[in-house]
Amino acid sequence: MTVNLYWFRRDLRLRDNPALSAARAAAQTTYGVFASADFGALNIRQRAFACGCLKKMRADLAKRDASLTLCDGPAGEAIAAAARRLGARAVYCARGYSRLEREQEAEVAAVLARDDIELHTGRADCVHEPEVVAEKKQAPGDGYLVFPAFYDVWREIPADPPGPESPPNGRDDEDGPLPDFGGAFGVAGPGEAWAADRLTHFITASAGDYRTNAEYPGRGGTSRLAASLRFGCISPRQIYGALAEKMSRSWTLVEERHSMQTVIRRLALRDFFIQLGYFDPSLHDLEQQPKMRGFASAVSDETLQRFASGNTGYPLVDAAMRQLRAEGHVHQRAAICAASFFCIDLGGDWRTGRDLWMDQLLEADEAQCDGNWQRIAGSGSDQASYPRIYNPVKQARYFDAQAVYIRRYVPELAKLPTSAALAPWSVDRSHQIEFGFFTPDHYAKQMVDHATAARAFLARYKAHRG
Ligand SMILES: Cc1cc2nc3c(=O)[nH]c(=O)nc-3n(C[C@H](O)[C@H](O)[C@H](O)COP(=O)(O)OP(=O)(O)OC[C@H]3O[C@@H](n4cnc5c(N)ncnc54)[C@H](O)[C@@H]3O)c2cc1C
Repeated sequence: MTVNLYWFRRDLRLRDNPALSAARAAAQTTYGVFASADFGALNIRQRAFACGCLKKMRADLAKRDASLTLCDGPAGEAIAAAARRLGARAVYCARGYSRLEREQEAEVAAVLARDDIELHTGRADCVHEPEVVAEKKQAPGDGYLVFPAFYDVWREIPADPPGPESPPNGRDDEDGPLPDFGGAFGVAGPGEAWAADRLTHFITASAGDYRTNAEYPGRGGTSRLAASLRFGCISPRQIYGALAEKMSRSWTLVEERHSMQTVIRRLALRDFFIQLGYFDPSLHDLEQQPKMRGFASAVSDETLQRFASGNTGYPLVDAAMRQLRAEGHVHQRAAICAASFFCIDLGGDWRTGRDLWMDQLLEADEAQCDGNWQRIAGSGSDQASYPRIYNPVKQARYFDAQAVYIRRYVPELAKLPTSAALAPWSVDRSHQIEFGFFTPDHYAKQMVDHATAARAFLARYKAHRG
């Protein structure tokens, strides 16, 4: 009887998992394993979420008389020990794209090789693999540095339809207890079933209106699938496939199709950032634009603390930072404003902001976090000649005009009339008494004046770029 192991990493699902299908096709018995060392790279919230996903998968596999084994200890040794114990001659897994995942893969392969066990890596979670898009590139160099050129090519490549379910079929009676990291996940639920339900809900209720609603943080018009994607509870191909299927129906309106195409464009952006980090892992530490190296500066501990705790005095920025702390998720528009405020108004180093988010975000992912922070800091893949400067007051007035989002996350402002919740500093003395609201007693005073800070940033930027 041929036996192999399937090492689940960040692909915690049984459906549309090409690497798992390859493992199943290669042996009569496939045992599912997870390396406890893989918890080490996650923040606290993510550990609880990953553990929740594993519990769900275990329950799912138990119904099929199969199991999921936790391999404790350094990944290579622990997986090799499980392979020896279960009589497996090969280990399969989905490839990693990030620097750390690839290093880990090489280490695990080397340890397994000592026991003559082969590590086979298969396709992971992009709509199109980085190499597939890169091979169409006309200009020299690996991969694409700017998104529009990437997207022009990406959108022309036919996407593979999602694959079938292919669960491991081996039952290991020594599967080991899962650790308990608690269960405070925030807004997303762990596991494949939650992600599938969420996708159905999104496709049915929101995807057709995505263009109208997604930019407004108070409206809840986005998919909320980022954490499920991060842990592979769903694959981007499944999302793409569901959108494409709905777009192909004759009764889908043109405007709905445009909306769904916008979601697909965002999946392409996700692939874009993955390939950026894949072809140039140095972007984790270094600015993508060489001219921006040496530009970023440090902020004081006090400044960082006020930003991190959502007490900058700018309601939209504070709502974003408090949503991050409360839910491990930030609405994209608010995230852009908060990150821009940190890099431009406070003059902070994008790496510091990125680290803060990597510590808290449920969907925290090196490639996505690096790519987005660099883009906002003006050192990344944006083609504009100047970094975009987002005025946090105007952005709030436009995208949260009724202060729905601000009131939800900044309780000090919840009872104020809308105009005052959007600009608490404008409440005059008589109204302060009427509302029982006094800045800065009840809400922080603005840390910096946006216009002055933006001018200072631009002057420094011009001087640096020469
Ligand atoms: C400063 C900053 C840091 C970020 N860090 C991360 C991160 O660590 N991990 C992460 O997954 N996303 C990150 N993002 C991207 C984005 O904010 C989230 O993916 C998105 O808000 C998730 O919500 P959703 O699932 O409802 O997205 P939807 O609006 O429903 O979009 C669908 C999917 O498209 C992808 N997507 C959408 N926008 C982006 C984007 N700007 N970049 C890459 N992919 C995108 C996501 O996978 C998302 O789930 C960051 C954005 C900013 C501005």
